Amino acid sequence: MTENLPVVTLNQGASKRAEHGHPWVFSNEIRMDPATKALKPGTAVRIMTDNSAPLGVAMFNPHSLIAVRFLSRDPEAVIDGAFLEGRIASALALREKLYDAPCYRLVHAEADGLPGVAIDRYGDVVVAQINSAGIDRMADDLAAALISVLGVKTVVLRGDSPIRKLEGLEESVRVVGAPLPEKVEVHENGISYRADLALGQKTGWYFDQRDNRAFMGRLAKGARVLDVYSHAGGFGLACAVAGAVDVTLVDRSESALALASQAAEANNVDDRVRIHVAEAFEDLAKRRDRGDSYDVVICDPPAFVKSKKDVAVGVKGYRKLARLAARLVAPGGYLGIASCSHHVESDAFLAQVGRGVHDTGREASVLRRAGAGPDHPVHPQLPESAYLKFLALRLDPGA
Ligand code: SAH
Repeated sequence: MTENLPVVTLNQGASKRAEHGHPWVFSNEIRMDPATKALKPGTAVRIMTDNSAPLGVAMFNPHSLIAVRFLSRDPEAVIDGAFLEGRIASALALREKLYDAPCYRLVHAEADGLPGVAIDRYGDVVVAQINSAGIDRMADDLAAALISVLGVKTVVLRGDSPIRKLEGLEESVRVVGAPLPEKVEVHENGISYRADLALGQKTGWYFDQRDNRAFMGRLAKGARVLDVYSHAGGFGLACAVAGAVDVTLVDRSESALALASQAAEANNVDDRVRIHVAEAFEDLAKRRDRGDSYDVVICDPPAFVKSKKDVAVGVKGYRKLARLAARLVAPGGYLGIASCSHHVESDAFLAQVGRGVHDTGREASVLRRAGAGPDHPVHPQLPESAYLKFLALRLDPGA
């Protein structure tokens, strides 16, 4: 019952951001008396200003820099299975409007009212990445709510992200419900991809690039395509299905490329798709030295910049990548390039890519500047959660 929720009080003058709707409160903004300090990480609490005005109900972790994550602005909200079901049903209503097939990011943390968790749906299976102590404590209720609202058979509770350390959480991965199928199909943009949900990267598939893949597909009819950092073939197979004549996928992960091969076969494009296991920068340099050229080049690397202090150096990696990739683009061809580094802002990414292309002595125009799809909504007061930056460029416009 709400009446019994412990109360956490903010310091004098520290309530403004929360009052204006920010979903977090930091630990130095909280009155850390012994009782507050002793609360178990993840406890549901009622948040009060220093004048005893209630601000809402939140998950509290005294050991985390982000000490408070709001769950509801209603100070009387009851956080139980029904609450979780309500949030999941609301998230589902949006995705059902957006997509024909039940494959999408179902819950994107704060912007879907469930801070500290990302949930991806693959038909009858969902995978939750649990990154906050509050959601960790509710993990079983969350799994039950997912099964009851979606009617899915299997829920994978994945607690293996390094950011869990910030919340003092151990690594843990478990499956609730029916055993996890070894390989699952991902239906996206009319294409059937393959994902490995147990061992694959993140939850197994990168749903964030869906709309960008479709866009690159539109440029790829009749094209020779190079998809670097291809993972299981997201961009490259979108291009092949859209009518590219030749698609090369490059990734250092053999298992991701094996999934891409299976998907190429399933979509009847295996005769036009080849895979190559390699380190990306080395491979790009080799192709340049050989004089290879492609009508469309796509580069979707992992985050080059992992922390704020690395920005100045790391951001230059995008310039180098753009330079190497642009050298492989045939006259009048296209370059798709992405950054998923949280700490690199969109303008800085564009500037580096612009310089990298300029280094090759060529002009470029920006056709598309986008982020993740609408199944990755952004909380208006957490603009930094819009981590994905994607650019599609046309080289040699006007030539
Ligand atoms: N474009 C993909 C997602 C890419 S995720 C899609 O549409 O789904 C980033 C990928 O880069 C991963 O598959 C990872 O295995 C690969 N990778 C990471 N470092 C690499 C490197 N140095 N060389 C080649 N591939 C790398």
